[in-house]
Amino acid sequence: MEVTGGCLCGAVRYGYSGEFLRQPICHCRDCQRWSGSAFHVGVMVPKSGFTLLSGELRTYRATGESGRWIDRSFCPVCGSGITHVLEVRGPDIVVIKAGTMDDPSVVVPNVEIFTRAKLPWVSIEAETEKHA
Ligand SMILES: [Zn+2]
Ligand SMILES: [Zn+2]
Repeated sequence: MEVTGGCLCGAVRYGYSGEFLRQPICHCRDCQRWSGSAFHVGVMVPKSGFTLLSGELRTYRATGESGRWIDRSFCPVCGSGITHVLEVRGPDIVVIKAGTMDDPSVVVPNVEIFTRAKLPWVSIEAETEKHA
C-alpha cells in the first residue's frame, strides 16, 4: 500500500509505504476519549515504512488498564491525533489513525477489540474478529 495523510490544519503530512498489518477498531474508553467519538479505527503498520513529511508530532503517554503505556501522537497546532505506538507491540509498530488518511476508504477493519465497552447503538458491518 502507498498512502498519504495528514491532520486537519495541514501542518502535519505523512506518507506510508508497505503492507497493512491488523486494522483494528478499538472500543475502549481511552480510545473513545482520545477520538472524541464512539471508537477508534487504526491501521497497524511497520514503523520503517512511515515517514513524517512535514510538521511535528507531540506525544501524550497514557497507561492503559493493563499497566502498559500507549504513546498517542497528535498535531500540536490543531490537535488531530495521527498515530499511536503501544508498549505491548513494541516501538517498531505504529498505528495510523484511519481518518487521517487522504483516502480512508483503503482501510478495511478486520478486528474489534474491547467490545465489552462497545456502545449499544454501534453496529460495524466489516467482517471482524472480536475480542472482549
Ligand atoms: Zn494540524
Ligand atoms: Zn483503545
